[in-house]
Amino acid sequence: MNKASITDYKYLEGTRVLLREDFNVPINKNGIISDDKKILEALPTIKFLIEKGAKVIIVSHLGRPKGKVDPEFTLEPVVEKLKEVLDMPILFEKELFSEHMQKMLRTMKNGDVMVLENIRFFKEEEENDEAFAKKLADLADIYCNDAFGTAHRAHASIAAITKYIPSYCGLLMAKEVEVFSNLLENPPRPFVVALGGAKVSDKIKLISNLIDKVDCLLIGGAMAYTFLKAQGYNVGASKVDESKIEYAKLLLEKAENKNVKMCLPIDHLAAKEFSFLADYDVCSSEHFPEDGIGMDIGPKTIKLYSKIISQAKTCYWNGPMGVYEYKRFSKGTRAVAKAMAGNPNQMVVGGGDSAAAVRSFGLENQFYFVSTGGGASLAMLEGEELPGIVNLKDKE
Ligand code: AMP
Repeated sequence: MNKASITDYKYLEGTRVLLREDFNVPINKNGIISDDKKILEALPTIKFLIEKGAKVIIVSHLGRPKGKVDPEFTLEPVVEKLKEVLDMPILFEKELFSEHMQKMLRTMKNGDVMVLENIRFFKEEEENDEAFAKKLADLADIYCNDAFGTAHRAHASIAAITKYIPSYCGLLMAKEVEVFSNLLENPPRPFVVALGGAKVSDKIKLISNLIDKVDCLLIGGAMAYTFLKAQGYNVGASKVDESKIEYAKLLLEKAENKNVKMCLPIDHLAAKEFSFLADYDVCSSEHFPEDGIGMDIGPKTIKLYSKIISQAKTCYWNGPMGVYEYKRFSKGTRAVAKAMAGNPNQMVVGGGDSAAAVRSFGLENQFYFVSTGGGASLAMLEGEELPGIVNLKDKE
């Protein structure tokens, strides 16, 4: 990518920078942030702007308030966290575009940071409304997008805004884009991609695009059952997307024609019911119990997938191998995470559930890269142009 970075802009002192962040973090009922990775990853750009004496105005969304003010989705806990990690006062503006806000903007000093309340309290945000984007752009001199996790959304503070204000990428955005561009352009081989998770529909386009680029695809999670059914296996009462079976057949054929190894689980943990304490059988794909629900990949698949990953020079992983939230069905996901963590090469975890799993296993620091964007990293690997990146200024 040849996009201008915020570090290329020479006149930051006293400049008002509208910084788009992705602070969409999980917050529990008591207002406690249970996973602060997105906030911590945003710090290098924020600190850089503070040090350069910019006036930093941060915009972010949180959850899905559906265009209405909803206290459940306030950014207040994020502001408290920023105060703590930056060890400085942070201004918080709840009334966007109000008199009060204009006054705060006028009195901001160099190096001050102001967070605006959840931008999705305005329905215009998700509508990518031009007039709204212009109003936002008018708050600052330049714009910086560091919200990789939201870069695949054509929303006003991501896409339309770039028409009205010089637009740069932040440090995190630059790093994320560099990693995924490298995966697509010239990955050291063998290049292995491990995909899991619940929905085949989310990843089918990715599989189709990657078949031309990878050496081996490892399929796990619920999506494996759609592929196994497409191959004629009985998968009991496992989660299957019937509408995607024909397409799954085509993908399996395409992989074979291109000589790409597409591995499906050879054994499973098949449970009697979908629950935390469910009893289960270990079974092969050939002997799947009639009423069994596939909850995790089995021990032989774990061994096979771990070996393939340990021999990879590049690996991208997105989507858990099983219902990892239930401890007894987390072994497959843990094994993939461990195999990657033990490999010193380019091991990249897509965001979302897989990144959360890696953190819950305490393995994050052993990875080459853990992305902050699940959907955005999938979109990049699908070969899409991301609205939050394509419109940023090109490097001069
Ligand atoms: P996704 O958002 O598509 O990446 O899916 C993540 C979800 O997939 C997690 O909540 C897992 O519990 C779920 N999942 C993984 N394997 C299975 C499975 N075999 N059956 C049902 N859900 C699964």
